[in-house]
Parts: sequence; structure tokens; C-alpha cells
Amino acid sequence: MEKKAILFDLDNTLYNYDLVHEKALKEVHRILNRRLNIGLKEFLRLYGISKTEIHRELSGTASSHNRILYFQRMIEKTEKTVEPGIILKMYNAYWDSLLKNMRLYKGVLSLFKELKRRNIKIGIVSNLTTHIQLRKLHKLGLSEYIDILVTSEEAGREKPHPSMFLFALNKLRVLPSEVLAVGDDPKTDIEGANAVGIDTVLLVKNVQAKLPKEDYRKPDFIIKDISELSDVLEKTQKFPASLQRG
Ligand SMILES: [Mg+2]
Repeated sequence: MEKKAILFDLDNTLYNYDLVHEKALKEVHRILNRRLNIGLKEFLRLYGISKTEIHRELSGTASSHNRILYFQRMIEKTEKTVEPGIILKMYNAYWDSLLKNMRLYKGVLSLFKELKRRNIKIGIVSNLTTHIQLRKLHKLGLSEYIDILVTSEEAGREKPHPSMFLFALNKLRVLPSEVLAVGDDPKTDIEGANAVGIDTVLLVKNVQAKLPKEDYRKPDFIIKDISELSDVLEKTQKFPASLQRG
């Protein structure tokens, strides 16, 4: 089936989130250390606890990823008070650092150019708040390539909930069979798109990564580099993915 659109996950699919997240947290630590004299290990422990608490309380919502809630909780734990000045400073330092250090994975830009040339639409489907994801797309220089964006803030649900993908299909006015979904996480990207009947592509950067055992999390295609998507497109145009499984 001729594909009319590709839905991409953003973090760790189009750029290395893990790497820049770690750097950004160190930047936040520097700020808090100046005020509280706190070691990096203790800082990361507090961050972990705060994040876990927020996830538990806001599970399934975009706000569960909002760094400002994590940092507020950290300050409340250490200083037993809300201190707007320091929380805002930590929040701004985190995103300033992350946005500054983000780099597109090699091959993304040339792939997007090729898709534009072939008139294949590009969508981003991502679990986070719209404001931050728009800032990332803008900073990564992708503004002119993106046709639609769906965030969990907008959909009111998070991947793997099918709503995320249904929103995207609706915005693009396409059928599940006319779309490919690409992501790095079997539990969110692949499971969610599979549930809607979209052909799925798992990006596995780490060769040691464990592949999903559950059938509903198994992708139709596995790629190690985003540039391999062109080959996947060729294959899906000849045969439906369902005939290529197994
Ligand atoms: Mg991801």
C-alpha cells in the first residue's frame, strides 16, 4: 500500500534525548548546588524521587513529564517551601541546556527532504506538552517539514493510548493502512500504533536493546538507522506488512 504519511516519535527517535537530558540535569545541579551545597548523587536521588511521585500522581497525563513539577517537588523536599525564583531558574536552565545541545540524528534531515519531495506527509506524535515540543521542533530546524503535531497534552491521553494515533490520522485525513509509525519505544510507540492497525517501525540504536516479547508490541520492521526508512517504504509499497511478518 502506498504510504501517504509517516508518524514519528520525537525524543530518542529524531535526536539523542538521553544524552542531552543528562547534560541538562548537571546544569540544574550546578544551580542548586550553589544554593544548597548538594552533591550530584544526592541531587539525582532527589530528582528521581520527585519524578516518581509526580508520575504516580499524574500518570497518563502530559503534566506527568513537566519538569517544573519535578523541580518544585525537589525544592519543597529540601527547603520545605515553594521558592518561585529558584524553581524557575532550575526550569529555565534545564530547557536552555537541553535545547542548546540537541542535535538531529544523522540522516533525519535528508530523509525529511526526500519525504517532502515524494509528497509524503510528516507527523510528530509525542508524549509531552505542546509548548516544549514546539520549541524542540523549531530549534531542530524542522519547522518547514512538519505537517502535523499531536502531543499528549492535546490528546488528553498518552501513547500507547490509540487516541494519540487517531488524532494524527484525523488531522492528516488518512487511513491507518496509508501510514507508517516510527519510534524507539515498543511500549509506547509500537504498541499504540499496532492497536490502530498502523504498520510500525522500531528504531533500535542500541544493539544490546531487548526486543519486545509481547505480540502487540512487535514492530513490522526494525531499523538501526533512520535512513533505512526509505527501504521500508519501498517494501510496504510492494507488499502489505502483514505478509512480511514472521
Ligand atoms: Mg522516544
